[in-house]
Amino acid sequence: MFRATEPQNIKTERGLILYNICVVGGGAAGLFAACRAAGLGAAVTVFERNEKAGKKLYITGKGRCNVTNLCGVPEFLRSVYGNSKFLLSAINSFTPADTVAFFEGLGVPLKTERGDRVFPVSDKASDIIRALQVSAAANGVRMVFNERVLSIKRALGAVSPEGEHGANGFKVTTERGVYSFDRVILATGGKSYPATGSTGDGYVFAETLGHKIVPPVPALVPILLSKPDPLLQGLSLKNIRADIISAGSGKVLFSEFGEMLFTDKGVSGPVILSLSGRIARDLKDKILSVDLKPALDFEQLDKRLLRDFSENINKQYKNSLAELLPKSLIPHVIIRSGINPEIPLNKVTREERQRLLNLLKGLTFQISGTGGFAEAVITVGGAELSEINPKTMESKLVPGLYFCGEIIDAAAETGGFNLQIAWSTAFAAGSAVGA
Ligand SMILES: Cc1cc2nc3c(=O)[nH]c(=O)nc-3n(C[C@H](O)[C@H](O)[C@H](O)COP(=O)(O)OP(=O)(O)OC[C@H]3O[C@@H](n4cnc5c(N)ncnc54)[C@H](O)[C@@H]3O)c2cc1C
Repeated sequence: MFRATEPQNIKTERGLILYNICVVGGGAAGLFAACRAAGLGAAVTVFERNEKAGKKLYITGKGRCNVTNLCGVPEFLRSVYGNSKFLLSAINSFTPADTVAFFEGLGVPLKTERGDRVFPVSDKASDIIRALQVSAAANGVRMVFNERVLSIKRALGAVSPEGEHGANGFKVTTERGVYSFDRVILATGGKSYPATGSTGDGYVFAETLGHKIVPPVPALVPILLSKPDPLLQGLSLKNIRADIISAGSGKVLFSEFGEMLFTDKGVSGPVILSLSGRIARDLKDKILSVDLKPALDFEQLDKRLLRDFSENINKQYKNSLAELLPKSLIPHVIIRSGINPEIPLNKVTREERQRLLNLLKGLTFQISGTGGFAEAVITVGGAELSEINPKTMESKLVPGLYFCGEIIDAAAETGGFNLQIAWSTAFAAGSAVGA
């Protein structure tokens, strides 16, 4: 069955409808692009495979939705993994301040917390989704739920709104029918948290239409270690510096300061999630090194050890670390230092003390991988950016095809950046498609 959804270029009570647009995916990006395009006069249909819109949005920010980040643009771009320049135009056209104005304009007061992170005052992600739904309804967006798009093909020979034959159109096949559209926005998200509906369908659509897909990998995800120590499981460390080191060159590749946590299979917590995004694409031969005393340099820490040791010369080594380290880390450090735990401190040699010092400044672990998409906050990879116009998000290969949100190969650290990427790219696509 092939049926056209709505006649093109028609006059309605809302004025002249310019284009008949299909948005695939009713998540953050899809909803926002639909609102924008419909606001500019396009006839917009959103196909969402779930029974409701924004399933992933509900769980963002632990249900509070960190809707954007109000840091400056340069800092924003530093938080982006990979090619941040691609986003410059979109972020400048729809800034974090615009996001705040948009949602507050829809009656959702926002507040700014530590690290410029912005949340609804109500601490409810559902308020953000409701605002988007209200805006979509007010702009006449047609929301179609429980309808998964199965394929998208170019319908060459379709009739353009200007009545030209041979213009580019699209044949969109869903679980329930086949529809024709003038333009299509792909907003199907990535592959992370697939239970929310983001299973990577959009990559297949884009690939079928000729686009390259940078292999998607899980990011903002726990890091797995080759030999996780059961003694450390559950240990949480604060104020540490975690470095990712190249096993080959010994070079420090990435560093983060803050909190981390040992799990049964490896490590997690804010600094680890953040680092996972940096190394997601290339996990080979990477070592995690934890500086347990980043506030002290080697010399200062050595002085401290010397002082502690000389004040407690008869104390056994195994009983000497309580003030330096959390309790559950002590047996691990003792074993790795190779110092006899029973000897008194005045018997610890200079070389042994040096070994302890090195451990405290760089407790290393071999990285074996990361957790999977089921526990990854975002996906790194997706539609290759060089094939997309950064101003309009239109495909450079297929006129009339647009991208927005996590489907493109642009992702960032936690802190509201990923949703801002969704809003900004959706604004660009929605503006261009509706123009
Ligand atoms: C636990 C968690 C917490 C997060 N917290 C934050 C946060 O606080 N701040 C932040 O900035 N970012 C956060 N993120 C990241 C953020 O949620 C995503 O980057 C953002 O949702 C991406 O938006 P999107 O619209 O591109 O994709 P999604 O939100 O994934 O939406 C894609 C939609 O497309 C639909 N779909 C897919 N395929 C089809 C198909 N074939 N047919 C029809 N519909 C389809 C899906 O059902 C889905 O509804 C979080 C992510 C997770 C998993």
